[in-house]
Amino acid sequence: MNKTFTVLKITLLLSICIVICTVLYIGGFTDKPVFSVAKQKIVIDAGHGLPDGGAVAADGTIESDLNLAIAKRVYEKLNAVGFECIMMRSDENSIFTDGNTIHAKKVSDTRRRVEIARNNPEAFVISIHMNTYTTSDVHGAQVFYKSGSEISKNIAMEIQNIINLKYQPENTKVSKPIPANVYLFSHIDNNCVLAECGFLTNSDDLAKLKDPEFQEGIASAISEVITYKLCGSDTNAQ
Ligand SMILES: [Zn+2]
Repeated sequence: MNKTFTVLKITLLLSICIVICTVLYIGGFTDKPVFSVAKQKIVIDAGHGLPDGGAVAADGTIESDLNLAIAKRVYEKLNAVGFECIMMRSDENSIFTDGNTIHAKKVSDTRRRVEIARNNPEAFVISIHMNTYTTSDVHGAQVFYKSGSEISKNIAMEIQNIINLKYQPENTKVSKPIPANVYLFSHIDNNCVLAECGFLTNSDDLAKLKDPEFQEGIASAISEVITYKLCGSDTNAQ
């Protein structure tokens, strides 16, 4: 083997090493993802919380437990991506600070949630609830968005599409604006989406909502869309 060839070979090997080390440094040795999501805050709102369990299914399942189960999965996923995530509540209890009756505690809890959202005006709010209806045939997740907010509408529509396509092919529901009478959302200016993940009054929905695999699916749909739409964002663009 001649000398020039050996030198060329060593140079080539060194170049490859430098490239590999650079890739590892950027992609592996930093504790944050290479894309910037650190500036975008996400507030995750698990609806209700004891003593207010929200809706109750025929088998005694309470809405607040299911809301928290999905909210925790959303938190884990978005936190892993690098978003700054704030949980409105992270255990079975609501976050009231005063009140002697359930109603008074609920009022206190709602006011605190409004306060958290207002203290983080740039945060995107994702709220998790379950639905009920007077008849048991009504079923399927439905994702609502803040009226007048394009980004909220885009995110809600995309989450709805993924849920319908991947997890509930029979679901024909479409995204709609959050009704104006929902206290939390009518008192905050944050971009936000409200995911009503299914009907506790429908036995098929209830079975799915209790299934960890379905909870994971819904949480994935929510976090993937939020990541895709808000990744790199540092503004609260409408
Ligand atoms: Zn609810």
